[in-house]
Amino acid sequence: MSLFSPVLSTQDDSNAHRPSWRDCEAWKRMASLALEGSFPHSCALVTAEDFHTEIALGIAKMLLCNNGRGGDGCPVCASWSGGQHPDLVVGGAPSQPPSIDTCREIINTTAYRPVVSPKRVVVLFAADRMMLPAANSLLKLAEEPPEYVHILFMLSDEKLFLPTLRSRSWTVSLPLHRQEERYSPPRTDEEWVRWIEKYAKAEVDELIMLFTPWISFEIERKAYERAAKLERLRLLIQTKRLSRTMVLDLIVLALKEGIVFEHSFGDFW
Ligand SMILES: [Zn+2]
Repeated sequence: MSLFSPVLSTQDDSNAHRPSWRDCEAWKRMASLALEGSFPHSCALVTAEDFHTEIALGIAKMLLCNNGRGGDGCPVCASWSGGQHPDLVVGGAPSQPPSIDTCREIINTTAYRPVVSPKRVVVLFAADRMMLPAANSLLKLAEEPPEYVHILFMLSDEKLFLPTLRSRSWTVSLPLHRQEERYSPPRTDEEWVRWIEKYAKAEVDELIMLFTPWISFEIERKAYERAAKLERLRLLIQTKRLSRTMVLDLIVLALKEGIVFEHSFGDFW
């Protein structure tokens, strides 16, 4: 039998990925440009890939909306169905760049006027990993898009983006997620890998000290369930005499894997 046979805690998942990027200055700037109707036609967005879909949709909703707000119940906003909209054109997926054929199709689509909205929004995922011919095929569209078209290039690594496309785009970084890392428990797999590397040799006391900012962070964003869970975990670590590797494992199992540690703990230590 494996340790912590999978009793997964899902009760507080709704708070786990609150879109904290909505609080950052770059997002507010984009929202105000959308509201004024002066959002650039070609925009390159740089942020962690986990958020690409959510962010692209958030911006598309504002840009397509009759009032530049999104979610206000106007006829355009009412035309959203899940993540789809008649005037939203999507190329590729967060980890999969669009092919040259997809890019050509998109270019053809943009020649037609929008259906419901005054605008058409084109989202190109993994745009920093497009093959050169695909990226090149978009140069003209990025340079002279029809007046009703907005293009969003979604990037994880700005440096990999074709310079000729970059120079035609307004680049926005949404860095909040990375800044938060110091205060919040890691969230993505990538963040966990970095966290484990960083704290692999940390002493128990040092690990316990991480909980104070984590708990404050969760309380600040009103994620009380998560804050309470962190508090219980901290108490557990403080009261049991565990080796530092056990503490490290426990943190990862409880916070990354979502194991209900209270139930499993007594059986194993
Ligand atoms: Zn609307």
